[in-house]
Amino acid sequence: MRKSRMLLAATLLMAAGAYIVVAGQSELKRIAVPLPAAAPGAPGAARVDSAQLLGDVRTLASAEFGGRRTGTEGSRKAQAFLQARFEALGLRPFGGAFAEPFAFTHKSIKGLLTPGKAYKTEYPKSVNYIGFIPGSATDARYIVVSAHYDHLGEKAGKLYPGADDNASGVAAMLAIAKWFKAHPPRHSIVFAAFDGEELGLQGARAFLAALPFPKARLALNLNLDMVSHNDSNEIYAAGTSYTPALTPLVAQAAARNTVKVKLGHDRSQLVAGSVEDWTGSSDHGPFHDAGVPFLYFGVEDHDDYHAPSDTFERINQKFFVDVANLLVDVAETADRNLR
Ligand SMILES: [Zn+2]
Repeated sequence: MRKSRMLLAATLLMAAGAYIVVAGQSELKRIAVPLPAAAPGAPGAARVDSAQLLGDVRTLASAEFGGRRTGTEGSRKAQAFLQARFEALGLRPFGGAFAEPFAFTHKSIKGLLTPGKAYKTEYPKSVNYIGFIPGSATDARYIVVSAHYDHLGEKAGKLYPGADDNASGVAAMLAIAKWFKAHPPRHSIVFAAFDGEELGLQGARAFLAALPFPKARLALNLNLDMVSHNDSNEIYAAGTSYTPALTPLVAQAAARNTVKVKLGHDRSQLVAGSVEDWTGSSDHGPFHDAGVPFLYFGVEDHDDYHAPSDTFERINQKFFVDVANLLVDVAETADRNLR
């Protein structure tokens, strides 16, 4: 999940008159702040194993994984993949094991209105995968790097592979884990592959509900969701409008990398008659609600979003590798600078 179009709210706002439209446009200008990037052609420091990164996306988005819908056989294959990758990286289990099982009930308004569809569906066997690398500083707090691994599965006989959404975020998270294994962090860094995001950010909610220490010990949630597919070499970083102290950290990393970073999508703003605010549209939402600062990285919506065409072949490979290098830099800069 990611797109958050509140058409009804937008319609009501439009009805309120031209003043709000004008205000909305100036809001957009104020909020979509492009950060200075490195000079074109300047080599960003390569921090990521690009073959591993692309291979991870290709595997997770393959037909064998069936679109990774929560509770399915494809989801269990994704879990086995995460178990093996967490072990290979040498992460420590956050609890007794990497697997964090949880249950939830999904309520569907569509199901309420469609004859033959269920309003309530139980998901008794959902599983987050959570590992961590302990920090070197005794008083340091936790940084949670998160990416959801679930997607839409199959609908009407069609596979929804979810390469950009969100095999890409999972692969980038694993690349960040590899970097910190080789370059030990100050903070303890938690790596969270969340389940049930597409069904209402369920994995993130379950993780926070089961957190074994006060939420004030979470310094940051760095959430990655759809980070590989853009034709303009652009990615958004949302969250800085709530925590302005994060802006210079993102700006420093952006200046060392080749991808164009735009700050925005974290306040209500009118775009073509819709209100597009991504604050609650992926797993950073529950962290924000719990008072934890977040940085969410994701691309602008594209034609393959939540479509069977969201395949490995459709992602922009060079862009994705560049984004992963940027994200390692952002994570490292945050680790060095946050309290
Ligand atoms: Zn997603």
